[in-house]
Order: sequence, then C-alpha cells, then structure tokens
Amino acid sequence: MLRLAAADNYIIGIDLGTTNIYGVLADLNASIIHEEKRPTKLEEGFFSIMDQTAEIIDLLSQKTAEKKKRLCGIGMAVAGLINKNRNMVEFSPNFHWQDVDIIGTLGQRFSLPIYFDNVTRVMALGELCYGVGKQYKNFVFINIGYGIGAGIIIDGQPLLGAVGMAGEFGHITVDKDSNTQCDCGNFGCLEALASGQGIARAARNELKKGAQSNLLEMCGGDINKVTAEMVAEAAKKGDSLAWNIFSQAAEYIGLGISALINLFNPEVVVLGGGVIQAGEILFDNVRKTISARALNRSARGVPLLPATFGLKAAAMGAVSLVMNKLLNLELECFLSKEK
Ligand SMILES: [Zn+2]
Repeated sequence: MLRLAAADNYIIGIDLGTTNIYGVLADLNASIIHEEKRPTKLEEGFFSIMDQTAEIIDLLSQKTAEKKKRLCGIGMAVAGLINKNRNMVEFSPNFHWQDVDIIGTLGQRFSLPIYFDNVTRVMALGELCYGVGKQYKNFVFINIGYGIGAGIIIDGQPLLGAVGMAGEFGHITVDKDSNTQCDCGNFGCLEALASGQGIARAARNELKKGAQSNLLEMCGGDINKVTAEMVAEAAKKGDSLAWNIFSQAAEYIGLGISALINLFNPEVVVLGGGVIQAGEILFDNVRKTISARALNRSARGVPLLPATFGLKAAAMGAVSLVMNKLLNLELECFLSKEK
C-alpha cells in the first residue's frame, strides 16, 4: 500500500545551514524530485533567515501543486542546541541565536506539520532510515563541517539526553591549554580546532606569521580567503604547512572518536559534513589515531564509513523526520508544531 502511495505524496526537507539553506522535495521512497538552494543571509539575523526558508518552502510547495501531488509535511535540520521541552533553539553558536522559536515563526505561515531537530541528529536519523541503519542499529554519525557534532544511535534509537541536547561532540575540550576560542565562548574545543572554520583559521594564523605555503598562491595573496577546502587540496599535493594543519585536525577528531567508541561501542562510525570531502587524507589520519587510542582490538577495528547521502545528508535526514511521523516509527527525535 505504501509503495503505491509513495510516488503521490511528497515531503519537504530543509537543511538550514550557516552557509546555505538547502531544500529538497522528495517522495516517500526518499527520491529527490526537486531542489532549491540559497546562500544564508547569516548577518541579517533570525527573522530574515526564516523569510528565506519560507521562500524555499513556497517554491517546493508550488512544484508539488504543479505535479498534482500531496504534501505531507516539512522537516528541518538546524545547527544548535535544541530544548525539546521548550520546543526552542536555546543556543546556536554558529548562527549566534539565543532562544529562537522556529515553529512559532514558520508555523503560522504553513498549514502543514513542521518537525525540526539538531542537524547532526537529523543526519544520523537519515542514515538510520535510509542508509547504514539497514545493516546496523548501533552507530555514531559525526558531522564535520562549519561546526562539529555527533548523532548517537543506540539499539535503533537516537540518543536525546534529558532535554534533547546530547551529542554536542564539538564542544568537548581536546586541548585545555589552547588559546583558540570557540564560538561557544570556551577555549580548546574540538570544533574550534578541527572543524572547517578551525582548519581555515589555523592556516590563516600560520600564514599571517609568515609561514611559506602554496596556500598563498591559492588564495591569490588574500590570506583571509583561505578555506578548509584549500588546505585539504594543498595537503594532498604535499604542501607541508597544509599537511601539518590538516593532520593535526584529523588527530583531534580521531582522539574524540576514540572516546566515543570506548563509550558507546558502535558497530560503525559514519563521517559526514563538508570537511570529509577531503577524503582519504582525513580518513587515514583519523584511523591512525583511533588505532593508537581506542581501548581494545574490536574498538580499534570499528569501520569508518562516509555518509550515505554525502552533502545531502542533512536534507535527507530532514525528510526522514517527517517519514518517521507518517510511519509512526516512534523514533522520538523530533519537535513538531502539533505538540
Ligand atoms: Zn565550543
């Protein structure tokens, strides 16, 4: 029955990122029908970003109407600490938001159910429904992009914590003596040292101190334009500054993942987010640290896999938020405007 209806019912999945707002229209088989993407007007603040999100939802709704299909709901992946009791984004260091009400703001504009959750947990849920979850029920999804987070799946259920804030992996301290400040205000967080912005910042700092590197040429002499992608590319070509920065970041990530493996005993660890586009240079260095640090042979041998949906992991996870509700899977990992 579901197979018959799957092509006639659509879901909107939104990846509300600090760089881009990316929306997909998918059917119930998780096939993407249409996509829309806009650069996030980060500096214009919360309400402007909600307007941008609403525009994307409108465009995707129009496509649904054109194709004479039914829209079942909207799922959203959001970077930040989400309090599920209050149904609010309590703190988002990357967006610089405190206590913002997504459902209160968007809920008035759409007569559809809206569900949202923390981006990394949403990515993990997408894997659980449509990716590695077909094979594994205990895994950790690590998102390494602008920030860093972890979505932890135990016995086929996402770990939420008391109010929904479990998985803030990026804000564990990996260097207590570091003078690199994180967006959260603390010093020496994994995110500050090993995220996309952390890698770019480390490279810029070294270049400003006069270090020699191919990065200078790659950024056209404007040090502020150095990105994590450039550092990965230069490292792959053998640039020693870029290599050192990238492998240092990978080592920090490996240290963190070793701790997660020791704590949760996952069957696999899945890596997603923009930084993993660097490929083997990242995976190799992370694996090396895990094999040196994890506790026993089985922990050291935990496979590291790339995210099934690559850069679409958050949007596809957002689709799975709605899908769970439709199928009554009772994976209690989402907040809705129905509550
Ligand atoms: Zn932090």
